[in-house]
Amino acid sequence: MKNFLKNNVSLESLTTIFSQAPVALGMLMGEDFTIEVANRQILELWGKGEDIIGLPLLEALPEIRDQEFPNILREVYQTGTPFNGSKVLGMIEKNGTLHKCYFNFIYAPIYGDTGITGISVVATDVTQQVEYEKKLRESELRFKELLEISDYATAIYRGEELVIEFANEQMIKTWGKDQSVIGKKLDEALPELQGQPFIDILKNIFITGIPYIAQEDRVDLFIDGILQTYYYSFSYKPLRDDDGEIYAIMNVAMDVTELVNSRKKAQNSESEYKHLAEAMPQIVWTTTADGKFDYYNKNLMNLLNCTEEEVREFNFEKIIHPEDIINLRKIWTEAAETQKTFTMEYRILDYRTDEYIWFLTRATPVIEDGVIMKWIGTSTNINEFKNLVNQKDTFLGIASHELKTPLTSLKLYAQVLERMLKKSGDDKNAEFAKKMDQQVIKLTSLIGDLLDVTKINAGKIHLNQNHFEFSQLVKETVEEQQMSTAHSIELNIEKGGTVFADRDRISQVITNLISNAIKYSPEAGKIIVETKSTDSEVTFMVKDFGIGMPEEKKDKVFEQYYRVSGDEESTFPGLGLGLYIASQIIDRSEGKIWVDSVLGKGSTFCFSLPSVQI
Ligand code: ATP
Ligand code: MG
Repeated sequence: MKNFLKNNVSLESLTTIFSQAPVALGMLMGEDFTIEVANRQILELWGKGEDIIGLPLLEALPEIRDQEFPNILREVYQTGTPFNGSKVLGMIEKNGTLHKCYFNFIYAPIYGDTGITGISVVATDVTQQVEYEKKLRESELRFKELLEISDYATAIYRGEELVIEFANEQMIKTWGKDQSVIGKKLDEALPELQGQPFIDILKNIFITGIPYIAQEDRVDLFIDGILQTYYYSFSYKPLRDDDGEIYAIMNVAMDVTELVNSRKKAQNSESEYKHLAEAMPQIVWTTTADGKFDYYNKNLMNLLNCTEEEVREFNFEKIIHPEDIINLRKIWTEAAETQKTFTMEYRILDYRTDEYIWFLTRATPVIEDGVIMKWIGTSTNINEFKNLVNQKDTFLGIASHELKTPLTSLKLYAQVLERMLKKSGDDKNAEFAKKMDQQVIKLTSLIGDLLDVTKINAGKIHLNQNHFEFSQLVKETVEEQQMSTAHSIELNIEKGGTVFADRDRISQVITNLISNAIKYSPEAGKIIVETKSTDSEVTFMVKDFGIGMPEEKKDKVFEQYYRVSGDEESTFPGLGLGLYIASQIIDRSEGKIWVDSVLGKGSTFCFSLPSVQI
C-alpha cells in the first residue's frame, strides 16, 4: 500500500474512493496475491466477509483454485499485460454453496519500485445479464422453432438492409428458393422484387414503425425460372428490442392465388353474361329472394326513363296496370311457395308516352339447398303482338257478327225450301235442302265459337247465372246429342246436385266435350258419360276410346287455337277453339276442367262445378 501512494493522495481518501466506487475493486499484492484492498462490492461478489482481507487469494477463495482465474493472474503478474475478461464463468462459494456466476473484469498490473508488485481487480457481476441473454436466446430459438412448423409462410428481415435472418420452409417454398437465401439481403435473394413496392414498404416501416397489412396483393416471383404472378395476404410487423428500437421485421404470408384466380374467373364469366344480357332486346333482370332488383339491363332504364340508381328505388307497383297487379302478386307468391318458374302477361306504364305496354314476364327461381336465393327473369315487350291479336279479334268479331245475319236468313230459306219440296212430293230435293240446313247449323256453330272467343278475349263474355239441377242438364244435353251421332252414349248419372251457373253455357261445355269424344274416337262404337255429386261439387266426365293424346300435350289442349299435331289429328277438322271456350266458361263459373288421357287408348275429359245447397 505504501508503494501505491503517490502524488500525495491520502490513504484515507483512497479507501473512501474504493469503498464508494460503484464497481467491485480489489488489490492483490505479491506473488501469492494477498488481498490488500477489497471494497464492499468485491466482497459481495466473492460472497465473503471483511475477514478475508490480508489473506492470500487462494486461501480466501479456495474454490477458485482449479478455475482459470489463478492462471490469468499469474500471467498478468509475469507479463505485465492487463487482462480483460468478458462474461467469464466462475464458481463462487457463497453461504456454503457453490454458485455459478459470470464476471466482466480487468486485471491490471500494479507497478512498484522493483517492477510489478501486485494486480488491481475491477469486476462486475454480470450473472443476471448472462442468464437473461441465455433465456432470450432460448426463447428466440423456441419462437423460431414454432415459426418453422407454422402453416403460414414466415420470415424475419433484420436491419434496414433487410437481411433474411429467418425464413421457414413454407416461405422458402413460396419464393421458389432454397436455404441459401438465409443470411442474404432480401433484394439480393429475390432480385425480382425490384420494381415492386415491397422493399420500399419494408424499409419505410423502420422509419414509421407502422405495420403493413396486405389483402390479396399481387406479387411477381421467379418460380421455375419464369416470372409468375401470385396473390398474397400478408403482414409486415416491426420487431422491437428492449429500448423500443425496431431491429427487424416479421413477414407472415398466406398464398391466396387460387382463391383470387377462381374469383376472377367467376367475375369474368359473370361479366360475360352481363354483356350478353345487355345485348338482348328483352329486359333482363335478377331480384333478391324477396323481390328487390339487384341487376337489370339498360332496357329497363330506357323504359322507365331513369338512371340505374333511380331504378333501385323505383316502386314498380305504381306502373303496373291496376287490373293486373293483384294477379301478378298472386302468381309470384304461388311461384315462391312452389319454387317454380312463372309466366305472366301484364301491362306497364311507359313514362315516355304515358301509355300502358303489354309485357310477357318469365321468372325462374335460383334454388340452393331448397331455399330460393334469387329470381332471374326476362320481360318481353309483346305490345305489338297484343295489338295484332286485338285487331284480329276485332275483325273476327265483326266478321262473325256480320255473317250471322245472312246465315239466319239462309237457314230460314233452307227450311222453307225443304218444306215446300216435301209438299210437292220432291223428296229427293227435299233431302238436299235438309242437308243444306244441317251445314248451315254447323257453320252457325263455328261462327258462334269465333264470336265467343272474341268475347272472351275482350273480357266481354256474359254469364247469365241461375240455379239449376246439374244431372238434369247433362241428361237433356246427352239426349240431344245422341240424336245426331252413330256412337252410343252410355249414361251413368248420379242424381241431384244444384249449381248456380249459366245453364246454356254449361250445356255448351258438355256438348263440346261430348262432340270431341265422338270426333276423336272414330273407330269406337261408344262413349261413356258420367256425373258425380258430393256436398260441395258436381263432376262431369266423358270417356272415349279413341286416339288419346301424349302426356305433355294434356294441358295445352285448353289453349286458344291449340290442336294436337300428329298424323291422326290432321284428318279431323276444327279450329282448336272448343276446349278453350269450355275452359274459360268453367273458369268463370269457378269450376275446374282437366283431362286424363293415354295415347292410342282414349281420353277422359272432366269438369267440376261448386254445388249449392238450397
Ligand atoms: P273445335 O274448335 O272445332 O272444337 P278442335 O276439336 O280441334 O276444334 P278443341 O276442342 O279445342 O279443338 O280441342 C283441341 C285439341 O285437343 C284437338 O285438336 C285435339 O287434338 C285434342 N282433343 C280434344 N279432345 C280430344 C279427345 N277426346 N281425344 C283426343 N284428342 C282430343
Ligand atoms: Mg272440339
